[in-house]
Amino acid sequence: MVDPAECTIKVMCRFRPLNKSEVERGDKYIPKFTGEDQVSISGKPFMFDRVFGSNTTQEQMYKASAQKIVKDVLDGYNGTIFAFGQTSSGKTHTMEGSLHDPDGMGIIPRIVQDIFNYIYSMDENLEFHIKVSYFEIYLDRIKDLLDGMYCSTVSNKMGCTERFVCSPDEVMDTIDEGKSNRHVAVTNMNEHSSRSHSIFQINVKQENTATEQKLSGKLYLVDLAGSEKVGKTGAEGAVLEEAKNINKSLSALGNVISALAEGSTYVPYRDSKMTRILQDSLGGNCRTTMVICASPSAYNEAETKSTLMFGQRAK
Ligand code: ADP
Ligand code: MG
Repeated sequence: MVDPAECTIKVMCRFRPLNKSEVERGDKYIPKFTGEDQVSISGKPFMFDRVFGSNTTQEQMYKASAQKIVKDVLDGYNGTIFAFGQTSSGKTHTMEGSLHDPDGMGIIPRIVQDIFNYIYSMDENLEFHIKVSYFEIYLDRIKDLLDGMYCSTVSNKMGCTERFVCSPDEVMDTIDEGKSNRHVAVTNMNEHSSRSHSIFQINVKQENTATEQKLSGKLYLVDLAGSEKVGKTGAEGAVLEEAKNINKSLSALGNVISALAEGSTYVPYRDSKMTRILQDSLGGNCRTTMVICASPSAYNEAETKSTLMFGQRAK
């Protein structure tokens, strides 16, 4: 039996440091950390499971917010980790970081390393099959980043490439390959990546060859599109269409998470493509962690507050 206390959604909040141009402009550093689980912005307090200040290392972030999910997946549970926040708030830094630098690695490469370390430490009767997929959702269309093609979807079954992998290096190469497919026909990579959701999926199947007992778990690691509001004036045509779409998919996600957090009997999974895809890894016995990423600059105060409010809805 699953302990109901284990099923809750965890919400972490991480503030990046002020960046160079914010420092040069003399921006004020606004978060006040008033406890391990609380931060206040201009006197308004926000509570999370944990709050991480600007000098939190990638390793500390991983240990406190993601490491436990690895064990759960190896125990046969499904899970999802999201990074939510405005563009430049540190979502990609948190989820991915530098794939090939041991200190700079974010959550995804550390998860991959931990999974393989576990496998290497297990006895010979256990056979593991690890496969990964990598795709992005842009304007409600799914692009398979491992072959550069758009996938057709029937409900939440996708025709995305599944790549079997045998080592952490192979996974990092696969991520690099996927990122290079994101570049195609895009002049500004950052701009594009901030307008689409990217989803990296890891499936772990294990079989005990002596007892024939099987176990399977999967994990979705989601770097969400930037949550910033697009000004009502100025945006038109394609930009407005994008903004409306992102807004709709993020609010659908917010509605699903808060329905789950409230223990509601109706969870509106069908309201967006992303929540349909993630349905079997959100809620129920699944492990869900939301990492709320925020800028510490006074310049971004309004966005930061609305980002923190979004995270608060999941509590
Ligand atoms: P996002 O994906 O939310 O748009 P990024 O992760 O690309 O934002 O972060 C924007 C910039 O800030 C990057 O250059 C990144 O390296 C840097 N950055 C983000 N978070 C941190 C952090 N916690 N510590 C140091 N640098 C960070
Ligand atoms: Mg990013």
